[in-house]
Amino acid sequence: MHEVGLAGSILKISLEAVGDSGAEKITSVRVKIGKYSGVEPESLRFAFDALSRDTLAEKAELVVDVPATVLQCGSCSAEYQTEDFPFLCNVCNRYCSKILHGSEFEIISLEVE
Ligand SMILES: [Zn+2]
Repeated sequence: MHEVGLAGSILKISLEAVGDSGAEKITSVRVKIGKYSGVEPESLRFAFDALSRDTLAEKAELVVDVPATVLQCGSCSAEYQTEDFPFLCNVCNRYCSKILHGSEFEIISLEVE
C-alpha cells in the first residue's frame, strides 16, 4: 500500500509550503491523480487523514482531480481520449498506444487560513 508513503510526501510538501507564512491551518490540498497512475484515491485520503493528525493539515480536505486519459498511438501518432483498457487507436485500430495524460500524480494547490 504505497498510498501511505505518498500521503506522507503530500503532507510534508504541504507543511513545508506553508512554512512560517503565519497560516493557522491548511483547509484543503488539491491533487491530480490520473486513472492510470496506480494510486487509489480512497486509500490516499484515508492515509492522509491519519497522518495529518496534530499538524496544521489536520482538518484539511484532500481534493482529488482526475484528468482525462489522453493517449498517443505509437503507430500513426494520433492522439485520442479513452477511459477504458485496452487502448485501441480510433484511427488505425492498433494497440500500441502510450499514455500522454492519465498517469499523473501531483499536488496542484493548497488553501490555508
Ligand atoms: Zn493509430
